Amino acid sequence: MTCIQNPATGRELELAEVHAATKPKRVVVVGGGVAGLEAARMAAARGHHVVLFEEAAELGGQVLLAARAPARAEYAGIVRFLVAQVRKLGVNVRLALKATPSEILAERPDAVVVATGSHPYIPLVPGCDGKHVVTDREVLAGEATVGTNVVVVDDVHTQEALSTAELLLEQGSVSK
Ligand SMILES: Cc1cc2nc3c(=O)[nH]c(=O)nc-3n(C[C@H](O)[C@H](O)[C@H](O)COP(=O)(O)OP(=O)(O)OC[C@H]3O[C@@H](n4cnc5c(N)ncnc54)[C@H](O)[C@@H]3O)c2cc1C
Repeated sequence: MTCIQNPATGRELELAEVHAATKPKRVVVVGGGVAGLEAARMAAARGHHVVLFEEAAELGGQVLLAARAPARAEYAGIVRFLVAQVRKLGVNVRLALKATPSEILAERPDAVVVATGSHPYIPLVPGCDGKHVVTDREVLAGEATVGTNVVVVDDVHTQEALSTAELLLEQGSVSK
């Protein structure tokens, strides 16, 4: 049993109890999606000094995009919780700042957590490099203009394609 929001679920013996670190360290977390936020939250809860870099102007990463789809607004609740916790625990959050090796090393970190997410998956089908082909993330972010007749291609069967299709239908595109 696992939980997409709580890494301790199903690993309670290993992760449930939070122990204070014997020696507080300087920890840099790169990326303020849910993975980086959870890493920052846990490191700070254990008494480490944590700096978190996020390239975007807002914390949350892909979850903020996913929550734009119809009936998925509640998905952003995990971001609201984690952001409140990292603020409460005194994590030093640097927004709108792309972390580079020099910026990271300037913090003199004992540990660096790289939580920079992923690139969108693009299936290898003929024509996938066409100018009229866009990703789910571009559609959800409102960065892509699509027509009224749209084909959503998904060969990995994830929530991303369904959410994108639902959003397109809501916007008036005929999605197949
Ligand atoms: C539409 C959609 C629906 C989804 N539905 C589900 C679902 O139902 N269930 C599920 O389990 N998963 C779902 N997912 C996937 C899930 O949301 C992601 O796996 C998860 O949010 C990834 O979190 P992350 O922190 O690893 O990465 P991200 O959210 O991608 O965060 C990485 C962050 O790092 C930042 N960053 C990158 N490089 C730098 C740098 N050099 N310096 C500073 N910051 C940097 C980025 O700006 C970004 O904010 C969905 C995703 C989408 C798009």
